[in-house]
Amino acid sequence: MLERIIDNGELTKLHALIDGVSRIVITCHKKPDGDAIGSSLALCMVLRKLGKNATVIIPDQLAASLSFVAENFDYVTFSRNEVMAGNIIRNTQLIIALDYNCLDRVGGMTQLLLSSSVPKVLIDHHLNPDKCFEVMISHPELSSTCELVYRLIVESGWQSLVDKDIASSIFVGIMTDTGNLSFSSSYPEVYEVMADLMRYGIDKPRLYKMAMDTVSLDSLLLQSYALLNKMTVTDNEYALIVLDKNDLEKFNYKTGDTERLVNRPLSVKGIKWSTFMREDSTCIKVSMRSEGDFAVDTLCSTYFNGGGHKHAAAGEFSGTLEEAISLYHNIVEHIKKDR
Ligand code: 5GP
Ligand code: MN
Repeated sequence: MLERIIDNGELTKLHALIDGVSRIVITCHKKPDGDAIGSSLALCMVLRKLGKNATVIIPDQLAASLSFVAENFDYVTFSRNEVMAGNIIRNTQLIIALDYNCLDRVGGMTQLLLSSSVPKVLIDHHLNPDKCFEVMISHPELSSTCELVYRLIVESGWQSLVDKDIASSIFVGIMTDTGNLSFSSSYPEVYEVMADLMRYGIDKPRLYKMAMDTVSLDSLLLQSYALLNKMTVTDNEYALIVLDKNDLEKFNYKTGDTERLVNRPLSVKGIKWSTFMREDSTCIKVSMRSEGDFAVDTLCSTYFNGGGHKHAAAGEFSGTLEEAISLYHNIVEHIKKDR
């Protein structure tokens, strides 16, 4: 039996909001990962079973590697259908934010969400959530937003609505956000949630294969190239991987192709901080991973306009790649001096 963890007041407010509306929009962060899409679809399916007209709107295209999660599910991609998505958002009665903690994480949808006067609900596990939400269900201690959505379903008395598809979506998010239960999952309850999900008949081997062990050949080659040619290691402790536009073009880069690359250097004994910079069309995307006492969420929020979790965080840099690299080296010097 899972212990109740969601604040009663927030849960009551959420139920009152849901009871009082019919049209609900569910949003997640741009470049949705397994947790963002999994939690969005799962909650949407539950709300539809409750008779609500619920729509998932994702900011930009889902990585091909995650399209299996949304097979047979109708969701709206904002960057491809701005007019339609805009109309749905303008007409909705409630907005739910899943797996992100501030409204600047939704790309081109930010203004639409900011200008909407309907109540907004946050359901998330990132540190330091914005205060702009009427209902805040924020649990940074949990593995994933998917685990939180499952607990929300149970604590709301909606468990009988869960089916194999809902359980599968939740399962994918927990698996991807914990690296198949290798990190952010060192407490018994997450396994109780996984055990519950297994009872809905999910196809675990297939979900594992699709979510954790399927890449395109281009992605495999790009990641191999990056490790071999574009990684530098400082003092055997800090790894930096940088991919510029030319590298990405050479390997026909598509969204999701560098997923989990930033984790790889941490498998080397001694390396405790890994940084990956990717030259996107509008900014330099910076991802960080760390181990032990080394916290990267503060580095990402201080220097790269981002945030996340202690051991997995990211942000964006708006100058050139050279400037981002130079900032990185300044941070390294700073850290070394402070030791
Ligand atoms: P990733 O490196 O996998 O893109 O992201 C690592 C973690 O940081 C995830 O939890 C993700 O949601 C969060 N994150 C990614 N990009 C940003 C960003 O630009 N701003 C903030 N605040 N968090 C981010
Ligand atoms: Mn997450």
